[in-house]
Amino acid sequence: MIFAMPSKKRTFNTRLIKRDYSYDIKELSEVLGVHVRTAREWIKSGLPLIDKTRPFMMHGSEIIAFLKDKQTKRKQPCKMNEFFCFKCRLPRHVWEGLIDIKIKYPNRLQLMGTCSTCSTKVFKAGSVSKISEYTKTFSVQRIEGRHIIETAHPTLMCHFESINKS
Ligand SMILES: [Zn+2]
Repeated sequence: MIFAMPSKKRTFNTRLIKRDYSYDIKELSEVLGVHVRTAREWIKSGLPLIDKTRPFMMHGSEIIAFLKDKQTKRKQPCKMNEFFCFKCRLPRHVWEGLIDIKIKYPNRLQLMGTCSTCSTKVFKAGSVSKISEYTKTFSVQRIEGRHIIETAHPTLMCHFESINKS
């Protein structure tokens, strides 16, 4: 299962950047065809500046490394036992493997846990038909909305037998 990410992001051609050249914000935005605001965002989110004096300059090799890193991180899909943490901006494990499940529709549910790294609440959408996989992968603490599937999928209810009703 791949967690859907906001899809406004685009891929930048890092070959347009010269490794041994220094860029200011305006030059960088022109080379890559992005808004200067985007280039400023990159600085805020970790693109290193050569020094703190204006005009702010960035080294080509640092820009390439930053954009490549950004792009690989984005491509990382979440594994079955991972959640995408919007604070860490990475797939993460949940604390102690503990999750809650909230059944929303006869076929859809939501998994909820806590990022093991930063303690932010993490969520992902799941499928009711995979309930047995979730109960094997995680320690399911609580299931909300059982009544939604009790009538639709009576056979799936056997997977809940080990989980205390709460
Ligand atoms: Zn996190």
